[in-house]
Amino acid sequence: MNRQPNQEKITALYERLSIEDSRDVESNSIKTQKAMLTEYAEKNGFTNIRHFSDDGTTGLRFERDAWKQLIAEVEAGNVAQIVMKDLTRFGRDHVQVGNYLEMFRQRGVRFIAIAHGIDSMNPDTLEFAPFINIMSEWYSRDNSRKLRNAFRAKGRSGKPTTSKAVYGFLKDPDDKARWIVDTEAAPVIRRIFQMAVGGMGPGKIASVLRSEQIDKPGYHMAQIGVGDHQWDDENRRSYWQASTVSKILAKPEYAGHTVNLRTEKKHFKDKNITWKPKEDWLIFPNTHEAIVEQEIWDMAQKARTVKRRTDTFGEANPLTGFLYCGTCGRRMYNHRCNPCDSMDKAKGRVVHKKGRDAYCCSLYQICRHDCTMHYITTEAVSDLILETIRGATAYARGNEAEFIQAIRQASALRQGEAAKSHKKQIAKNEKRIAELDTLFRKTYEDFAAGRLTEKRFEQLSGGYETEQDALEKQASELAAELEQFDRDSFRADKFLDLARRYTEITELDAPLLYEFVQKVVVHEADKSSGKREQVVEVFLNHIGAFTVPAQVAADGGGDDKRAMWSDYKRSQRARAKQPTELPAQEEKTT
Ligand SMILES: [Zn+2]
Repeated sequence: MNRQPNQEKITALYERLSIEDSRDVESNSIKTQKAMLTEYAEKNGFTNIRHFSDDGTTGLRFERDAWKQLIAEVEAGNVAQIVMKDLTRFGRDHVQVGNYLEMFRQRGVRFIAIAHGIDSMNPDTLEFAPFINIMSEWYSRDNSRKLRNAFRAKGRSGKPTTSKAVYGFLKDPDDKARWIVDTEAAPVIRRIFQMAVGGMGPGKIASVLRSEQIDKPGYHMAQIGVGDHQWDDENRRSYWQASTVSKILAKPEYAGHTVNLRTEKKHFKDKNITWKPKEDWLIFPNTHEAIVEQEIWDMAQKARTVKRRTDTFGEANPLTGFLYCGTCGRRMYNHRCNPCDSMDKAKGRVVHKKGRDAYCCSLYQICRHDCTMHYITTEAVSDLILETIRGATAYARGNEAEFIQAIRQASALRQGEAAKSHKKQIAKNEKRIAELDTLFRKTYEDFAAGRLTEKRFEQLSGGYETEQDALEKQASELAAELEQFDRDSFRADKFLDLARRYTEITELDAPLLYEFVQKVVVHEADKSSGKREQVVEVFLNHIGAFTVPAQVAADGGGDDKRAMWSDYKRSQRARAKQPTELPAQEEKTT
């Protein structure tokens, strides 16, 4: 080989700024690299210098413009030597790097990586090149891990990882990581949630917004010039669609929370992102000002899961979605018919049939062998619910201290054990995660030293990563549950707030139901005593189960959970006289 530089051909100086460099701008900037390479070229008597600079692209893929130009020059036989700062400027995929090195060798192009001491004129230095390539790929993987971890850490810290604020929020001009409420859009969002809680579906809500000519999110975003989904069509500015409403109703952001890591990259070489299932999202509570209260948001979620069909009676029965079968746990369906006169052939005359409005187990309806009817009339169950709410709110208002005490005791008992085991499991997971990190390092060292094949290394490291991900996921789920426990201890206060707000409850309408009722479990009627007895458990929001009405059964001296329908009205009057009955009920339900 010729030590004298080839005068006709060019000396290609290749500079590249990678994304990873951006954190260490000074030492790796294009300017610094240029200065370093120029100085080196001059010192070594290289002439005909030409710079090839790639700015800010990652080294994972060979899709860089300057690099392509450089290779074109090499292929055209115009390059005498290529000089770069280190091998990582070159690329991180060791197979590709190897291919290029081979290409340079074949075309007699001298290759120099200053910082790694590599010079193809000196074959000894090249011996290390493959190793450095692999190192560099590892570095890239390691970096991707680090970046991912940093991103996750940012995600876990509750700072929004998205670059744009969602409709309803704006970025705080003083702190880009913070969101502030967009005062123009917020009232629209509140309206949407209110309508949803009132029992309206997304389609109905969208048509109301259209008829009121309210600007849709895309148009609003275009007006203020932010976001990815700007829509500037003046003619369709209020063209709200059900899907837009659905998306708004599903966003925890409106209750003041940040949702991070909705998406992920499966592999560090991937360009595309994939959506993660909802249960894997990381949700950070109370990171910014809420547009709707948490209660309203929760109620809206519940309202969305209920299918509402309007029948010949007009509006759907508001109880639908709240009633569950006590035996199989399925939802109960509403059946209604009007009173009518019809011909009874057996009796040979016209008989009057009473109207019906009742609920039955939905599984029973599908297959009569799998469950029983669990028949209950809307009137009876409405009365029970209304009475439970009235009784509980009146008692809470009149006996604040005792009420809070009773709820706290019940909740502490339920959660104490679970909290202990959760904390234990989290600590265990953290220990294993640290172990896996060590194993990962060791495996890599073995691989680098040639004690492991690449395939085996991939297998082992992949396994470690999968296990680690699973552990991390479980730990964050447990932590979220723990947090929920902490929040639960305030439930009594929340209920008390409600009780103070609702002092006059006369009718059981949809907003009241969503505000107070978590679910109602209807058990099968028992006729063994000669009377029809049916147990109904009403679970209230924030405070849970109340057995209704307990004192009727107490009178009979039998099972305290039995309620007799015929005695129900009497029990109502009895209870009005004995409001202190409630704590006793609470104890029975724990
Ligand atoms: Zn059932």
